[in-house]
Amino acid sequence: MEKIVSLCKRRGFLFQSSEIYGGVQGCWDYGPLGVELKRNLKEAWWQDMIAGHNELLKPDTAPSNFEMVGLDCTIIMHPQVWKCSGHYDLFHDHMVDCKESKKRYRFDQVRGRWVEYQDRKIFVSTLADVETEFDDVRRRGMKFFRLRNKDADKITVGEESITLDKLDSTSEVLAPDAKNLDTLTEPREFNLMFKTTLGALGGEDDATFLRPETAQGIFVNFKNVLDSSRVRVPFGIGQIGKSFRNEITPRNFTFRSREFEQMEIEFFCHPDQSQEWYRYWRDRRLNWYVALGLSSDSLIMREHDPEELAHYSVGTADIEYAFPFLPEGEYGELEGIAHRGDFDLRSHMEGKLDPSTSPMTVELNEHGKPKYRGSGKDLSYRDEILGEKFVPHVIEPSAGADRGVLAFLCEAFTEDEAPDEKGKMQTRTVMRLHPRIAPIKAAVFPLVKKDGMPEVAREIYGNLKQHMTVFYDEKGAVGRRYRRQDEAGTPFCITVDTETLENQTVTLRDRDSLEQSRIHINDLATELQTRIDAV
Ligand code: ATP
Repeated sequence: MEKIVSLCKRRGFLFQSSEIYGGVQGCWDYGPLGVELKRNLKEAWWQDMIAGHNELLKPDTAPSNFEMVGLDCTIIMHPQVWKCSGHYDLFHDHMVDCKESKKRYRFDQVRGRWVEYQDRKIFVSTLADVETEFDDVRRRGMKFFRLRNKDADKITVGEESITLDKLDSTSEVLAPDAKNLDTLTEPREFNLMFKTTLGALGGEDDATFLRPETAQGIFVNFKNVLDSSRVRVPFGIGQIGKSFRNEITPRNFTFRSREFEQMEIEFFCHPDQSQEWYRYWRDRRLNWYVALGLSSDSLIMREHDPEELAHYSVGTADIEYAFPFLPEGEYGELEGIAHRGDFDLRSHMEGKLDPSTSPMTVELNEHGKPKYRGSGKDLSYRDEILGEKFVPHVIEPSAGADRGVLAFLCEAFTEDEAPDEKGKMQTRTVMRLHPRIAPIKAAVFPLVKKDGMPEVAREIYGNLKQHMTVFYDEKGAVGRRYRRQDEAGTPFCITVDTETLENQTVTLRDRDSLEQSRIHINDLATELQTRIDAV
């Protein structure tokens, strides 16, 4: 992971936000390569799920034909949205404060191990990453028991790494930044939404929140979309946009950020067909990641246990990836696919529903009045053909663009052996990104900076630039220029040499196979596009 993080900074994929001022935890900027990679991933999603979807052709595994449309909603919405959606009351994590260090941690995420010395057993927690966690626990355990290096074998460090929430309340815990035991408070609820105020004179009534998910914009526009386009159920609405969560312990590079982008679909269907649609989206979304290059060995589909599900939901599955910063055998969520029943539309219609009752009733306050009033708008659907009116059920495939980028970066990072310009085998770092998402599709080099080669190469560069992202480089030995493009994930390199001047052909080198072929300059754009589309 360290190598990936360092490559990301060195080559301009990702930088810490406001780095010159010491950075902001949980906020990341995408550099020149990163921004192209992320745009390509979002565009692939939009093309494959929304714009390129052919509603006249039923995909093989789909229960029927369906339409897909897009939306782009605001980040700041009416405060009532978050009350009716449940986020105002329920969107929280448990945190603990350290009385000694004054730091705050997420209860279910801080890891540690049992450390035993003589007859004493304490739990030592740490924020170190998976590779250094064991050593950090041992080091701090030794410090706590005042042991020297030569006594290292006198303490026992537990095999298993566990999180704080798995301990019972009598455990003696050394907090991650503390010197003394038992400095952590009891866990408390902490709402993850960023609060903000509308208008200059805003009081408490004008308080609202930065959206913690893009989904609610889709639900509150359901009627607008129905009335303004000719969609019929079943259909889906997709949206890509920023979301904000005040995560207590942002960590693991961009995996848990405070500002991030989501790619979400709300798919509206008839209640009787919802199970079939749930299975359809679950399988389709998993296949999408594999088609774009994530190895199926590193991906799992984790169906939530029945006790994990909200009672209105008949199923939720997470697509999870074996991120290298996680312990062996653990996976991190890339995307969740949830069957949400009619919970969201009904809540925005009638008021916040009580998810613990079945059938769901509107949640009441202590005076027996609705706790939060809904919009009062009719968000049901009338099916003219069936002659039936119903509140559609919703399947929600909700993906994170930043977690997607991170997974593709981790998957792409490879070190292999390749000959240098003198034919000597050298370790090369190569980002094996799928050509569709690679930031630069092709790099153009003149073999040497003379004999008219730069002029030809610059012309090729200018022409290709009309079709795709290309990069021009004439500095240094050509072998070194190849290496730089390998690290950037560029799938193709084009070299102008003496033969080019004679017969208008160039060398086209493939990043992965290292094969070189000769292509006529006039055929380059078509050849590159064919190769990009062929994978
Ligand atoms: P987690 O359990 O990891 O906090 P979640 O279950 O709360 O995630 P959802 O609310 O289902 O996540 O959000 C949908 C998707 O949005 C996630 O699968 C993930 O890809 C992305 N996402 C959620 N929170 C973050 C975050 N803090 N940073 C980056 N991406 C995020």
